[in-house]
Amino acid sequence: MAEQSQSKTWWKCGECGHTLQADTPPETCPSCKHKCEFKDVSCYTPECGMSGPDPKLLGPDS
Ligand SMILES: [Zn+2]
Repeated sequence: MAEQSQSKTWWKCGECGHTLQADTPPETCPSCKHKCEFKDVSCYTPECGMSGPDPKLLGPDS
């Protein structure tokens, strides 16, 4: 039962925390318009459905 329709990676902007789904992270964040470092926050654990950013990786903003 493998669904591979959503195989893109989730990226989180290191600057503003904006998340987006793409094959590769954009050069410029569409939200804060900065050249940010994007962190891979794709969920790889079955328990959350593997269909979005992992809340554990997103974490609380500190
Ligand atoms: Zn940003």
